[in-house]
Parts: sequence; C-alpha cells; structure tokens
Amino acid sequence: MNQFHFQLRFAVPVALGLLFAPIFSISAIDVNPAKNPLERLTQGNQRYVASTTVCHEDWSAKRSALLEGQKPFAVIVACSDSRVPPEIVFDQSLGDLFVVRVAGNIVDDFAIGSIEYGVNILGANLVLVLGHSNCGAVQAALKGMKFDNHIQEVLNAIQPAIVATKNESGDLLEKAIKANVKIVEEKLKSSKPLLAKLIEAGTLRISGAYYDLKSGKVEFLDKPSVNPL
Ligand SMILES: [Zn+2]
Repeated sequence: MNQFHFQLRFAVPVALGLLFAPIFSISAIDVNPAKNPLERLTQGNQRYVASTTVCHEDWSAKRSALLEGQKPFAVIVACSDSRVPPEIVFDQSLGDLFVVRVAGNIVDDFAIGSIEYGVNILGANLVLVLGHSNCGAVQAALKGMKFDNHIQEVLNAIQPAIVATKNESGDLLEKAIKANVKIVEEKLKSSKPLLAKLIEAGTLRISGAYYDLKSGKVEFLDKPSVNPL
C-alpha cells in the first residue's frame, strides 16, 4: 500500500465521520447519558412529566440507523390502555424499548416467550412491569364482573391480586393494581428455565412500577434498589 492509498484509506472515513457526526448526535442515545436502564427510564419520565421530551427525532434517519437490528435497553410489560404508551411515558425512541402489552399487564407463556426474546436474544437487562392508576381490567376484576368471552380470562389472571388485597383498607383499586404488578414480577422472577437463572446469575433485573394517569409520573415500586438521579 503506497502512502497515498494509506492516507485515503484513513482520511476518507475521518472526513465522513466529521461530516455526519452532527446528524447522528441528535439520536436519543446521546441525550440519554445514564447507563443504568432504570435511571434512563426515570430521566425519560421526568422529561415527559415536564413536557420537555426529546424524542421528536428525524424518524427517517432513525429508521435507517435501525435497519440492521435492534438493541433495546429494557423490556416493558405494560397494560394495553391507550393512555399508557411506554415509549411516550418514558420519552424513548425507536429501538429503545421492547414492549409487551396485554390488558392488566399480565403474562402468559406467549408474553414470557417475548420477554425472554427481549432479554436473551436482544440483550435487555431490565424487565419493568408497569401497572397504572384506574386500570379498567383490575377494576373489573375487583368488582367481580363476569364475561362470557375471553375478557374473563384476563380477569381470572388478575384474581390473585384481588384476593391478596381484599382485607386491606384504603384505596383497594390502587392496592390491587400494585399487588398485581408484584405478582407478575414474582412470576417472571421464578420463570424457568431462563429468567430465574438470569436473576440468580445477577445479569437481569426485574422491577415493578406504577403510572399515575393524572400526573404522568411513574412510581418505581422497588425503591430500595432504585438509584434515582
Ligand atoms: Zn390497564
């Protein structure tokens, strides 16, 4: 290789890098400096609550950047409720969150398989189970409503949370919603063969959270282990 080719080989990539650097510097990754996935979610929710969201990107560029693959930093297990879209609530962009949504944020084998894919294949090391205030699914279960269709299956899956909180006082709906989050969390933590093993190895974290419809704030329910800003 002569000197000209040597220079060309290195000068061109450097020049292109400088040329395109400003374009890619607007990506969500650069405005999310926190490395800890829970911190990233906490910061994102704070931006959302303050209406200072940053994920209004050049979607075309973002789509192109993700064509080769995805590397979401967290799996979110959320309710299907139209008022609780995880990407908006946590101010995250395309490719950031691997989301599993079912009414009442419950999990079955299909959901757990999806979670395992997000963790084992895509590399997310946090699973966050996100309940929310005034959850219609939990409310229906709490009221003992009956359906002669598949809605009943959802209510049946929430029933353990209703039983766990039936003797408590205060806001029974909120308590049942939080108990349901905890039950789903525990189910995932003990899920074999994969999730339980990763928890034991210390390479995966499973947490719970509660979204308040009115304030937009996410309360992280495992406070001792959460490292806020
Ligand atoms: Zn809900």
